[in-house]
Amino acid sequence: MKIGIHGLTSCYGCQLSMAVVKRILDVSEKFDIKYFYMLSSAGKIEHVDVAFVEGSVSTDEDEKELRMIRENADVLVAIGSCAIHGGVQSILFSEGIGYEEAFKTVYGDKKMDYNGRIAQPLDKFVKVDYRLPGCPPEEEEIMYYLATFAIGSWPEEKDYPVCAECRRAGNPCILIEKGEPCLGPVTVAGCDARCIKYGIPCIGCRGPVSDVSWFDSLAMSFRDRGMDKEYVKKRMAIFASRYEGLNEMIDKIYGD
Ligand code: SF4
Ligand code: SF4
Ligand code: SF4
Repeated sequence: MKIGIHGLTSCYGCQLSMAVVKRILDVSEKFDIKYFYMLSSAGKIEHVDVAFVEGSVSTDEDEKELRMIRENADVLVAIGSCAIHGGVQSILFSEGIGYEEAFKTVYGDKKMDYNGRIAQPLDKFVKVDYRLPGCPPEEEEIMYYLATFAIGSWPEEKDYPVCAECRRAGNPCILIEKGEPCLGPVTVAGCDARCIKYGIPCIGCRGPVSDVSWFDSLAMSFRDRGMDKEYVKKRMAIFASRYEGLNEMIDKIYGD
């Protein structure tokens, strides 16, 4: 099976996670890696069965490359919060700050030889077949996606929140017991509640959970714990400001 691993504007953390999967040898013989931008700049875009794309569309060049990848891939997988939701770099969108203003604040009157824009997720431009969430994705999930493609199957995306894994791990609930601003109830599972294990509230790095039916009393207790609507929205927007269902999700929690 031919695969390609590609990075648009990003920190390259997702590609790094793919490059250091410890059990990669278990599945690697199934794959012919046609390009992997982090490891080799020599690869050019060619037809692959599955293209993994990290990063957000933040320049005209990103958009051009993404369209070329899509034209040459049977299946396209968006990897990580940048590719799925625009990522941290798209936060300016929710703050209502335009690209020109942001550019001037950081670079003053300097000129750049690319045309930038506020970051957008891949599905604003092309069809995305699967999403591999995380910032970056977990090794187990990367293995799961690779293994399912290797056997000619397809991955199932999780539709339940971090709370499910947190409760299963037997962690005390720091939202209920300590009033910590934990976004576990509205964040898609898969990290095994990593931060909560260390007593740190979830900040939603994996992005919003897709199936609203999983909202439960934990999410609805945000208000009782002093987290108002704007506060929750602002925190969710750190990683997912471009998520179109964000307002609907927050309204549902607050019963509006
Ligand atoms: S999702 Fe996170 S780790 Fe992956 S490229 Fe974006 S910022 Fe980096
Ligand atoms: S709200 Fe946070 S601490 Fe409580 S169960 Fe959910 S993930 Fe765990
Ligand atoms: S607990 Fe939340 S912030 Fe921490 S890794 Fe999981 S999704 Fe990300």
